Amino acid sequence: MSEGQPVQSLKSGPGPSEPGDEQPSAPAQDQQRNPQNAADLRTRAQIPPGPALYIVATPIGNLEDVTLRALRILEQVDTILSEDTRKTGILLKHYGLSTRQKSYRVHNEDRDLETALSFLREGRNLAFCSDAGTPGISDPGSRLVRAMRDTMPDAPIFTIPGPSALVAALSISGWQAHPSVFGGFLSPKPGRRRKFLNARADSDDLIVLYESVHRIEGLLRDIRTIFPDRFIQVARELTKIYEEVVIFSPDFSDLQWEEALKALSRKGEFTVIIGPRRESF
Ligand code: SAM
Repeated sequence: MSEGQPVQSLKSGPGPSEPGDEQPSAPAQDQQRNPQNAADLRTRAQIPPGPALYIVATPIGNLEDVTLRALRILEQVDTILSEDTRKTGILLKHYGLSTRQKSYRVHNEDRDLETALSFLREGRNLAFCSDAGTPGISDPGSRLVRAMRDTMPDAPIFTIPGPSALVAALSISGWQAHPSVFGGFLSPKPGRRRKFLNARADSDDLIVLYESVHRIEGLLRDIRTIFPDRFIQVARELTKIYEEVVIFSPDFSDLQWEEALKALSRKGEFTVIIGPRRESF
Protein backbone atom coordinates (compact mmCIF):
# COMPACT_ATOMS: atom_id res chain seq x y z
CA MET A 1 0.00 0.00 0.00
CA SER A 2 2.88 2.36 0.72
CA GLU A 3 4.31 4.70 -1.83
CA GLY A 4 7.77 4.56 -0.23
CA GLN A 5 9.46 7.84 0.62
CA PRO A 6 8.00 10.15 3.25
CA VAL A 7 6.05 12.81 1.53
CA GLN A 8 5.72 16.51 1.95
CA SER A 9 2.14 17.46 2.48
CA LEU A 10 1.01 20.28 0.25
CA LYS A 11 -1.58 21.48 2.72
CA SER A 12 -0.95 24.22 5.23
CA GLY A 13 -2.52 24.88 8.60
CA PRO A 14 -3.16 22.43 11.43
CA GLY A 15 -1.92 18.86 11.47
CA PRO A 16 -3.44 15.80 9.85
CA SER A 17 -5.78 15.00 12.74
CA GLU A 18 -8.04 17.89 11.81
CA PRO A 19 -11.47 16.61 10.81
CA GLY A 20 -11.72 16.54 7.04
CA ASP A 21 -7.98 16.41 6.48
CA GLU A 22 -6.43 13.63 4.53
CA GLN A 23 -6.03 10.66 6.84
CA PRO A 24 -2.66 8.91 6.86
CA SER A 25 -4.25 5.46 6.44
CA ALA A 26 -5.36 5.90 2.86
CA PRO A 27 -4.80 9.15 0.95
CA ALA A 28 -1.30 9.57 2.39
CA GLN A 29 -0.17 7.06 -0.20
CA ASP A 30 -1.49 9.55 -2.61
CA GLN A 31 0.51 12.56 -1.47
CA GLN A 32 3.36 14.03 -3.46
CA ARG A 33 7.00 14.61 -2.79
CA ASN A 34 8.42 18.05 -3.15
CA PRO A 35 7.93 18.44 -6.88
CA GLN A 36 10.30 20.11 -9.32
CA ASN A 37 7.75 20.39 -12.08
CA ALA A 38 4.38 19.13 -13.23
CA ALA A 39 5.75 15.93 -14.73
CA ASP A 40 7.33 15.13 -11.36
CA LEU A 41 4.03 15.52 -9.62
CA ARG A 42 2.38 13.09 -11.97
CA THR A 43 4.99 10.39 -12.03
CA ARG A 44 6.44 9.91 -8.54
CA ALA A 45 3.54 9.21 -6.22
CA GLN A 46 1.71 5.95 -6.79
CA ILE A 47 -1.82 5.09 -5.88
CA PRO A 48 -2.06 1.94 -3.76
CA PRO A 49 -3.40 -1.33 -5.17
CA GLY A 50 -7.17 -1.44 -5.59
CA PRO A 51 -9.94 -1.71 -5.19
CA ALA A 52 -10.66 1.98 -4.84
CA LEU A 53 -12.84 4.53 -6.54
CA TYR A 54 -11.52 8.00 -7.38
CA ILE A 55 -14.17 10.63 -8.05
CA VAL A 56 -12.23 12.94 -10.34
CA ALA A 57 -13.27 16.50 -11.20
CA THR A 58 -12.51 17.51 -14.78
CA PRO A 59 -12.76 20.90 -16.55
CA ILE A 60 -16.14 22.47 -17.31
CA GLY A 61 -14.64 23.85 -20.51
CA ASN A 62 -11.07 25.06 -20.43
CA LEU A 63 -8.69 22.09 -20.47
CA GLU A 64 -6.19 23.93 -18.29
CA ASP A 65 -8.64 23.73 -15.39
CA VAL A 66 -7.59 20.31 -14.19
CA THR A 67 -5.51 19.59 -11.14
CA LEU A 68 -2.14 17.89 -11.27
CA ARG A 69 -3.46 15.30 -8.89
CA ALA A 70 -6.42 14.57 -11.16
CA LEU A 71 -4.06 13.96 -14.09
CA ARG A 72 -1.89 11.66 -12.02
CA ILE A 73 -4.86 9.65 -10.78
CA LEU A 74 -6.29 9.40 -14.31
CA GLU A 75 -2.93 8.12 -15.45
CA GLN A 76 -2.60 5.51 -12.72
CA VAL A 77 -6.04 3.95 -12.34
CA ASP A 78 -6.80 0.74 -14.22
CA THR A 79 -9.96 2.05 -15.84
CA ILE A 80 -11.73 5.39 -16.15
CA LEU A 81 -15.53 5.22 -16.05
CA SER A 82 -16.62 8.12 -18.24
CA GLU A 83 -20.05 9.61 -18.59
CA ASP A 84 -18.85 10.96 -21.94
CA THR A 85 -15.87 9.02 -23.31
CA ARG A 86 -15.41 11.54 -26.09
CA LYS A 87 -15.04 14.49 -23.71
CA THR A 88 -12.80 12.61 -21.29
CA GLY A 89 -10.85 11.37 -24.30
CA ILE A 90 -10.13 14.95 -25.36
CA LEU A 91 -8.71 15.68 -21.90
CA LEU A 92 -6.64 12.48 -21.86
CA LYS A 93 -5.26 13.15 -25.31
CA HIS A 94 -4.42 16.75 -24.43
CA TYR A 95 -2.27 15.53 -21.53
CA GLY A 96 -0.85 12.48 -23.29
CA LEU A 97 -2.64 9.89 -21.18
CA SER A 98 -3.75 6.56 -22.57
CA THR A 99 -5.68 4.96 -19.70
CA ARG A 100 -8.53 2.82 -20.97
CA GLN A 101 -12.04 4.21 -20.62
CA LYS A 102 -15.33 2.44 -20.05
CA SER A 103 -18.52 4.25 -20.88
CA TYR A 104 -20.76 4.91 -17.87
CA ARG A 105 -24.02 6.45 -18.96
CA VAL A 106 -27.20 7.40 -17.21
CA HIS A 107 -29.14 5.63 -19.99
CA ASN A 108 -27.44 2.32 -19.20
CA GLU A 109 -27.00 3.03 -15.54
CA ASP A 110 -28.08 -0.36 -14.14
CA ARG A 111 -25.82 -2.28 -16.48
CA ASP A 112 -22.87 0.12 -16.16
CA LEU A 113 -23.16 0.16 -12.38
CA GLU A 114 -23.00 -3.65 -12.29
CA THR A 115 -19.91 -3.60 -14.53
CA ALA A 116 -18.24 -1.00 -12.31
CA LEU A 117 -18.91 -3.03 -9.17
CA SER A 118 -17.58 -6.18 -10.85
CA PHE A 119 -14.37 -4.32 -11.77
CA LEU A 120 -14.01 -3.26 -8.15
CA ARG A 121 -14.60 -6.81 -6.93
CA GLU A 122 -11.72 -7.83 -9.22
CA GLY A 123 -9.57 -5.39 -7.27
CA ARG A 124 -9.26 -2.66 -9.89
CA ASN A 125 -8.66 1.00 -9.22
CA LEU A 126 -11.35 3.04 -10.96
CA ALA A 127 -11.78 6.74 -11.66
CA PHE A 128 -15.17 8.18 -12.42
CA CYS A 129 -15.45 11.30 -14.61
CA SER A 130 -18.72 13.02 -15.38
CA ASP A 131 -19.15 14.86 -18.67
CA ALA A 132 -17.82 18.00 -16.96
CA GLY A 133 -16.97 19.30 -13.52
CA THR A 134 -17.25 17.51 -10.22
CA PRO A 135 -18.93 14.10 -10.41
CA GLY A 136 -21.82 13.35 -8.11
CA ILE A 137 -23.55 16.66 -8.76
CA SER A 138 -26.47 16.19 -11.16
CA ASP A 139 -24.90 13.16 -12.85
CA PRO A 140 -24.71 9.37 -12.31
CA GLY A 141 -21.73 9.64 -9.92
CA SER A 142 -23.80 9.78 -6.75
CA ARG A 143 -25.52 6.44 -7.42
CA LEU A 144 -22.19 4.78 -8.09
CA VAL A 145 -20.75 6.08 -4.81
CA ARG A 146 -23.84 4.98 -2.87
CA ALA A 147 -23.79 1.50 -4.41
CA MET A 148 -20.12 1.11 -3.58
CA ARG A 149 -20.63 2.23 0.02
CA ASP A 150 -23.51 -0.24 0.35
CA THR A 151 -21.87 -3.25 -1.24
CA MET A 152 -18.15 -2.74 -0.57
CA PRO A 153 -18.02 -0.69 2.63
CA ASP A 154 -14.32 -1.37 3.19
CA ALA A 155 -13.17 -0.15 -0.22
CA PRO A 156 -12.04 3.49 -0.17
CA ILE A 157 -13.63 6.25 -2.18
CA PHE A 158 -11.47 9.33 -2.75
CA THR A 159 -12.55 12.73 -3.97
CA ILE A 160 -10.19 14.48 -6.36
CA PRO A 161 -11.74 17.93 -6.23
CA GLY A 162 -11.66 20.56 -8.93
CA PRO A 163 -13.97 22.58 -11.14
CA SER A 164 -17.73 22.67 -10.75
CA ALA A 165 -20.20 24.85 -12.65
CA LEU A 166 -22.10 25.48 -9.42
CA VAL A 167 -19.11 26.92 -7.57
CA ALA A 168 -17.74 28.70 -10.65
CA ALA A 169 -21.03 30.54 -11.18
CA LEU A 170 -21.35 31.47 -7.51
CA SER A 171 -17.76 32.68 -7.38
CA ILE A 172 -18.38 35.44 -9.91
CA SER A 173 -21.83 36.46 -8.66
CA GLY A 174 -20.60 38.81 -5.94
CA TRP A 175 -23.49 37.56 -3.83
CA GLN A 176 -23.08 35.98 -0.42
CA ALA A 177 -23.61 32.30 -1.08
CA HIS A 178 -25.17 31.51 2.25
CA PRO A 179 -27.80 30.50 2.67
CA SER A 180 -28.31 29.01 -0.75
CA VAL A 181 -30.19 26.18 -2.35
CA PHE A 182 -28.84 24.01 -5.14
CA GLY A 183 -31.75 22.85 -7.28
CA GLY A 184 -29.71 21.23 -10.07
CA PHE A 185 -31.86 20.53 -13.11
CA LEU A 186 -35.50 21.28 -12.35
CA SER A 187 -38.17 19.06 -13.82
CA PRO A 188 -38.69 19.48 -17.58
CA LYS A 189 -42.40 19.64 -16.78
CA PRO A 190 -43.34 23.33 -16.38
CA GLY A 191 -45.89 22.55 -13.66
CA ARG A 192 -43.34 20.78 -11.49
CA ARG A 193 -40.70 23.40 -12.17
CA ARG A 194 -43.05 26.18 -11.06
CA LYS A 195 -44.02 24.20 -7.98
CA PHE A 196 -40.35 24.05 -6.94
CA LEU A 197 -39.90 27.77 -7.55
CA ASN A 198 -43.20 28.81 -5.93
CA ALA A 199 -42.30 26.88 -2.80
CA ARG A 200 -39.26 29.15 -2.42
CA ALA A 201 -40.82 32.44 -3.47
CA ASP A 202 -40.80 33.88 0.05
CA SER A 203 -37.29 32.78 0.94
CA ASP A 204 -34.19 34.96 0.56
CA ASP A 205 -31.89 32.03 -0.21
CA LEU A 206 -29.86 32.15 -3.39
CA ILE A 207 -31.02 29.39 -5.70
CA VAL A 208 -28.57 27.81 -8.14
CA LEU A 209 -29.95 25.88 -11.10
CA TYR A 210 -28.55 23.99 -14.06
CA GLU A 211 -30.41 24.25 -17.35
CA SER A 212 -30.10 23.08 -20.90
CA VAL A 213 -30.37 25.25 -23.97
CA HIS A 214 -33.86 23.89 -24.76
CA ARG A 215 -35.46 25.07 -21.55
CA ILE A 216 -33.46 28.13 -20.55
CA GLU A 217 -35.99 30.64 -21.85
CA GLY A 218 -38.96 28.95 -20.15
CA LEU A 219 -37.02 28.77 -16.90
CA LEU A 220 -36.04 32.44 -17.00
CA ARG A 221 -39.60 33.53 -17.74
CA ASP A 222 -40.89 31.51 -14.80
CA ILE A 223 -38.23 32.98 -12.53
CA ARG A 224 -39.17 36.50 -13.51
CA THR A 225 -42.84 35.84 -12.79
CA ILE A 226 -42.26 34.13 -9.46
CA PHE A 227 -39.33 36.26 -8.24
CA PRO A 228 -40.05 39.73 -9.73
CA ASP A 229 -37.84 41.57 -7.23
CA ARG A 230 -34.76 39.35 -7.47
CA PHE A 231 -31.59 39.72 -9.54
CA ILE A 232 -30.85 36.78 -11.83
CA GLN A 233 -27.40 35.78 -13.04
CA VAL A 234 -27.16 33.60 -16.13
CA ALA A 235 -23.68 32.12 -16.67
CA ARG A 236 -23.24 30.51 -20.05
CA GLU A 237 -20.29 28.49 -21.29
CA LEU A 238 -18.08 29.38 -18.32
CA THR A 239 -14.35 29.01 -19.01
CA LYS A 240 -14.99 28.48 -22.73
CA ILE A 241 -14.36 30.77 -25.71
CA TYR A 242 -17.91 32.15 -25.76
CA GLU A 243 -18.22 32.54 -22.00
CA GLU A 244 -20.98 34.98 -21.14
CA VAL A 245 -22.53 36.27 -17.92
CA VAL A 246 -25.78 38.22 -18.06
CA ILE A 247 -27.40 39.86 -15.04
CA PHE A 248 -31.13 40.45 -15.26
CA SER A 249 -32.06 43.30 -12.92
CA PRO A 250 -35.45 43.48 -11.21
CA ASP A 251 -35.48 47.12 -12.35
CA PHE A 252 -35.48 46.15 -16.02
CA SER A 253 -38.50 47.31 -17.95
CA ASP A 254 -40.33 44.62 -19.92
CA LEU A 255 -38.52 45.84 -23.02
CA GLN A 256 -35.07 45.72 -21.39
CA TRP A 257 -35.83 42.25 -20.07
CA GLU A 258 -36.87 40.96 -23.48
CA GLU A 259 -33.78 42.52 -25.07
CA ALA A 260 -31.48 40.89 -22.54
CA LEU A 261 -33.19 37.58 -23.15
CA LYS A 262 -32.88 38.01 -26.89
CA ALA A 263 -29.20 38.87 -26.62
CA LEU A 264 -28.50 35.75 -24.56
CA SER A 265 -27.18 33.20 -26.98
CA ARG A 266 -29.20 29.99 -27.16
CA LYS A 267 -26.23 27.69 -27.30
CA GLY A 268 -24.22 25.84 -24.74
CA GLU A 269 -24.57 25.16 -21.06
CA PHE A 270 -26.21 27.42 -18.50
CA THR A 271 -25.99 27.88 -14.76
CA VAL A 272 -28.60 30.24 -13.34
CA ILE A 273 -28.56 31.93 -9.95
CA ILE A 274 -31.66 33.52 -8.50
CA GLY A 275 -29.92 36.27 -6.55
CA PRO A 276 -30.81 38.73 -3.82
CA ARG A 277 -33.83 41.01 -3.75
CA ARG A 278 -33.51 44.53 -5.05
CA GLU A 279 -33.50 46.04 -1.54
CA SER A 280 -30.85 43.74 -0.10
CA PHE A 281 -28.39 44.14 -2.93
N1 SAM B 1 -21.18 17.80 -12.16
C1 SAM B 1 -21.03 18.99 -12.96
C2 SAM B 1 -20.44 20.12 -12.14
O1 SAM B 1 -20.19 19.97 -10.97
O2 SAM B 1 -20.19 21.17 -12.71
C3 SAM B 1 -22.32 19.40 -13.59
C4 SAM B 1 -22.89 18.32 -14.43
S1 SAM B 1 -24.45 18.69 -15.05
C5 SAM B 1 -24.79 17.16 -15.86
C6 SAM B 1 -24.11 19.70 -16.44
C7 SAM B 1 -24.73 21.08 -16.25
O3 SAM B 1 -23.82 21.90 -15.54
C8 SAM B 1 -24.97 21.78 -17.57
O4 SAM B 1 -26.19 21.40 -18.14
C9 SAM B 1 -25.00 23.23 -17.12
O5 SAM B 1 -26.23 23.55 -16.52
C10 SAM B 1 -23.91 23.22 -16.05
N2 SAM B 1 -22.61 23.55 -16.70
C11 SAM B 1 -21.64 22.67 -17.05
N3 SAM B 1 -20.62 23.33 -17.65
C12 SAM B 1 -20.96 24.63 -17.65
C13 SAM B 1 -20.32 25.81 -18.12
N4 SAM B 1 -19.13 25.75 -18.73
N5 SAM B 1 -20.94 27.00 -17.95
C14 SAM B 1 -22.15 27.07 -17.34
N6 SAM B 1 -22.80 25.99 -16.87
C15 SAM B 1 -22.23 24.79 -17.03
